[in-house]
Amino acid sequence: MSKGIFPLKGAVQHYAWGGDTFIPSLLGIDNASSTPFAEYWLGVHHRGAAQIKQQDKWINLDQLTSLPFLLKILDVNRMLSIQSHPSKAQAEIGFQQENEKGIPLDASHRVFKDDNHKPELMVALSDFWLLHGFRSLDQIKQVCHNIPAFQVLESHITDIPSFYSYLMNLDTDSCDAILNELSNYLQTLDVSDKNEPHHWAAKAFDQYGNDKGIFSIYFYNLVHLKKGEAIYQEAGIPHAYLQGQNVEIMANSDNVFRAGLTPKHIDIDLLLSHLDFTPIVPTVIQAQKHNSSLSVYKSPAKEFEVHHIALKAKQQLTLNSTSPECCFCMGGEVTITSEGQKMTCSKGTSFFVEAGVSYALSSVAECSLYRAIVP
Ligand SMILES: [Zn+2]
Repeated sequence: MSKGIFPLKGAVQHYAWGGDTFIPSLLGIDNASSTPFAEYWLGVHHRGAAQIKQQDKWINLDQLTSLPFLLKILDVNRMLSIQSHPSKAQAEIGFQQENEKGIPLDASHRVFKDDNHKPELMVALSDFWLLHGFRSLDQIKQVCHNIPAFQVLESHITDIPSFYSYLMNLDTDSCDAILNELSNYLQTLDVSDKNEPHHWAAKAFDQYGNDKGIFSIYFYNLVHLKKGEAIYQEAGIPHAYLQGQNVEIMANSDNVFRAGLTPKHIDIDLLLSHLDFTPIVPTVIQAQKHNSSLSVYKSPAKEFEVHHIALKAKQQLTLNSTSPECCFCMGGEVTITSEGQKMTCSKGTSFFVEAGVSYALSSVAECSLYRAIVP
């Protein structure tokens, strides 16, 4: 492939939890049938590789290059499963063990789909709610004390790992008794406040019925991100996206431990042995200004870094790619020039840059771009 910059086209994932307006309007797609558009992928993942345009032909990006990251736009309408991801070392061991057991890669009870970790960073494009990591033991005790249905749990709270293990292993009758009482209790309350766990528990009952994941809504931190704020999912930290739109970037992996709010397979023992029970206060990541038009979202991940580029009309910015890059235009219009190449990118369109290319952005109209690189 000749060095340069290429128009890039992503792959849409129509998962049922997706909204039906945000991504279609971003991409300029008519969605009269109200099909859910959950995710838009820019990367080389085998379930949805992006394409680049070379000499008027669209070619799968994975045929031409590899990328350690997958950049996505998400529109979360209905809450996603509670999950965590393994560390790199855990993934290597788990993948090998499941291979040795002869569990097919596509089996519903297969947990390790590959031998990679899956650090994730998301930048909110709207108000965004998610669950992230365990609350403190004192907070968990307080919640159980305050909610009548949970008072039966109070005597089981010694430490977080054993309490959570107790919850996840509750038999169906005991679990139903507690959750039925909680569900009745919620019906007596105003649950409209999205910054209260009750709101999401009521929604979860509607969506999943008596699901053990509903406990986690109360015992994990409920985080409300404002537009432009970001959060990072370290290995082992349980999390669940609840509602909103975001830009998400992750290492290439499908390794997910599920812990509820899902019809999919949950391996409780495997989950418990890989979960980080340390209580945390969520770290909200703010973009760091690199210059007047480019800001950086820092995270510990070695596979990716996300930049936000905001240009006023008729503004210029020169960039050098030190790795392959994917850029997505959220709004406005920008001209990209590099050694004899010139193209225009507007709302909903993307471009791919090879490593070692110097290029200039020149905004036609005020524009906003997300840029993914390998740091
Ligand atoms: Zn995740």
